[in-house]
Amino acid sequence: MSDRIKKELSHLCQKVGTRVPLWTQGAGGNISIKDQASLWIKATGYRLDSVTPTSGIAQVNFRKMAQVLEEARWSEETAEQNYADLIKETTAQGAGLGRASMETGFHARLNSPYVMHFHSLVSLLLSHEFKKDKTKVSSWLKSQTDLSWVMIEPCRPGWVLSKRVSGSSSIYFLECHGIILQGENGDILSKWAEIEKSFCRDFNYHELGEILNSNVEFREMFKEYGLKAIPKKCFFPDIAVFEERLNRCLKKESSGLAFFPIETIETDRDMAELWLATQLLYKFCPQFEEFPFEIARDLKNLPTEKLRRQKELSYGS
Ligand SMILES: [Zn+2]
Repeated sequence: MSDRIKKELSHLCQKVGTRVPLWTQGAGGNISIKDQASLWIKATGYRLDSVTPTSGIAQVNFRKMAQVLEEARWSEETAEQNYADLIKETTAQGAGLGRASMETGFHARLNSPYVMHFHSLVSLLLSHEFKKDKTKVSSWLKSQTDLSWVMIEPCRPGWVLSKRVSGSSSIYFLECHGIILQGENGDILSKWAEIEKSFCRDFNYHELGEILNSNVEFREMFKEYGLKAIPKKCFFPDIAVFEERLNRCLKKESSGLAFFPIETIETDRDMAELWLATQLLYKFCPQFEEFPFEIARDLKNLPTEKLRRQKELSYGS
């Protein structure tokens, strides 16, 4: 049973993980599958495209995790540590099993067997358009899909986000962060891919639509869209979390604008992906709002994020 799930999970991780930087950047994003007893999820510190049936997967007692989260009345001072402890306590240990990430909480709370969270650039633009004109985006979504959806305002990933995400919606748009999809099987992913294409067509993001449809290789895309000097922007939680690491890659011009030298792609591929995602958002939507500063500051100090950074440092830098 678990072998079949691990195989399917790694397949889905590859499917999302190869779409860099349009769906995922660095070790961001997470996918899980539940069976009766356990939730199987990409382990912390792994890139989605590096998950295989035998590595990069964590096994979690999701019923216990969901129950504790449901009943928890933790104070702000203790919540993050309690949440980190809960993740540790509910993660199974065994040969070949990894540690569950800070984003496991909502995977456990959502009831569907398939939950996928990633940092889709189109989902960010859709949330941005929604803020500008709620009626327009709501009726457009209604015309495109019968999937139910909700918008979630920017909040701190981890404990806070876990508490906000519940219910049976198929799509959760996370403003300034990404998207969560849940369903009975992996088909929800292709439904979302169709929505992305239509969105680019109907909301005037034609060039981004062309990039989505093309199979252009990462380095080629970087040459085309990633080399320009631009203002440093914090469009995602991961930019806040990895600020120092990204700064080590970036060069500053006298004008104050920053650029990412092409040879640095090989030195730190994760940061190159985050930067190219930033570049694309900035190009197609220069007025895109940054991740709220206060949330970014708190996020950097979380125990779970500190662990994640330590683990990921081995990746490139
Ligand atoms: Zn995320």
